This record gives sequence, structure tokens and C-alpha cells, in this order.
Amino acid sequence: MKINRARNIGFCSGVKRAFKLATDALKKGKIEGREVYFLGDLIHNSDVISLIRSSGGKVVYSHEEIPEGSIVILRAHGTPRDVLDYFEKHEITSVDTICPIVKKNYHVALSFLRKGWKVFLVGKPGHPEVVSLISHIPEVVLLPVPFRSGDWEDAEFEKGVIIFQTTVFAEDANKYLEILSRKGKIKLVNTICPEVVSRLKESLTLASESEYVLVIGDKKSSNTNTLLQNVKTVNGRAFLVSSPGDIPEEVFMARSVAVLSGTSAPDFQIKRILEALKHGRRKFPARRSS
Ligand code: SF4
Repeated sequence: MKINRARNIGFCSGVKRAFKLATDALKKGKIEGREVYFLGDLIHNSDVISLIRSSGGKVVYSHEEIPEGSIVILRAHGTPRDVLDYFEKHEITSVDTICPIVKKNYHVALSFLRKGWKVFLVGKPGHPEVVSLISHIPEVVLLPVPFRSGDWEDAEFEKGVIIFQTTVFAEDANKYLEILSRKGKIKLVNTICPEVVSRLKESLTLASESEYVLVIGDKKSSNTNTLLQNVKTVNGRAFLVSSPGDIPEEVFMARSVAVLSGTSAPDFQIKRILEALKHGRRKFPARRSS
């Protein structure tokens, strides 16, 4: 079997950085005898969350559950303004792992606003990155993905710019561009994460050259699911796997398999899948559904 392993595989730079900051904070918490909390899942990957828990980290989903004096790790997507204020007020040390590429979007938005431009953001309503950016810069107008009418239609402007949530491929942007261009001068500034773009490009090539495709990642991970859906447009024999037991039997008989991953798949998960492909299924009984 030929294994076509992607070069762009495993954690992206933002997730790698977040994981390193979190690991350092867990060590600091142990030395200082302080509790370390994670506000939400640092990474959408159950194995990584189990690892965090077994290292002493506590995962909570509301900032109000975090006691004074503790350390809190904030996610790479960014954190809303009011939550940051809460931590400051309650003397909770925050370790903000916001990805520099996500943060760059704040700078782009602010620099256009300061020059008098109206700023529009193409993004998924409710996505933490979008919620956080708009909480810090409320002048930004959301253009929802998928396309739909809404408050954005009331925006008045002479000069406007459309930027993007870093992980969104918005075919819809052209629709928005066309409608908004009837109101004023408007342009697109591509702020999509280059790592997501190159991962997708390579994945599509490998998927189209291989008989089967394995996309490694968690079912909960939105970027992994998006990658899988995109890959399925060129190869219908694509599967989401997070452990060797998830690999369908037929894949072990394949002439070639592309091995890809979302940006939240840890190295140990990728290694396990590659070893299973090399050594065959017999070593790894299939998962039983309960
Ligand atoms: S996908 Fe890109 S923007 Fe998102 S965390 Fe990774 S490097 Fe940062």
C-alpha cells in the first residue's frame, strides 16, 4: 500500500503555540500551587482534552466558575472583551493563546476603521472567533456565512472593506461584494489563514491521486469536518478517523491511501493511524458501536 502522507499535517502553528503556552502554564500552576483552568476546549480533540485533564487542568465552560487567584488558559480563537475584564477584576491570571493570525484581523479592522472605512466581516455567526472580534471592535458589521439577508443591508458607507474569519472559505463573499458595491466603494481584503489554504490545496491534490482518504481528527472539530467535506468533492472514499479502530476494513486492501488531518489532530494520533496502516488491521480491532 502506498501511503500519501500530507506535509501539512497535525497541529497548525496557532494550535501548536496554544498547546505550548498551556503546557507551560500547567507547570507554572504546579510550582506555584495554583489551580489551572481551561475556558472551553483548548482544542477540539477529545484525546487532547483527556491529556489536559490528566495533567491537572480543569476544563470549564463558563468564566464565572473560575475561582479568584487561579490561572486560566484562553483559546486560540480569541476571548470576548467582557470575559477578559472579568478576569482582571477577579485577579485571575489569564494566559491568552489567541493565534497571531486571528489577532492580525483585529489590526486590519482597526486600521481601516481609523481611516474612515466601514469594515465588514464574512464569518459564521456564533463562532468564537467572530464573537470575540466583534466584542472588541463593535463597529464591525457581520456578513453571515452562509449568505443571508440581515442588518448588514442597512449599513451606510462611502468606502468599505470586506475581511474574513480566518478559517472560512466564503464563496458567498462575492454575493455580498456585488450587493454592497451598489451602496459605495467596496473591496475585499483576504484575511483567510494561509495555513488553512495550503492544507486544503495539498489535501485536494493527494485525495484526487489516492484510492482512499483518511482525514484524522475529532468529530467535534469544525475545521476537520470542513476539510473532509471539501476532500469528498474530489474523492468520495474519504473517512474521518481518530483512532485505528475507525479505519474501515476496505482501506487495508487499498493500493493507495492519502493521510490528511485537521489543524487540531495531535502527532500521537497521526502516528497511531500510520502504524495501523503499515502493520494491518489485525492488531487493532474495530470499535464496537454501543
Ligand atoms: S488555523 Fe490558522 S488562524 Fe486558526 S489557529 Fe491555526 S494558524 Fe491560527
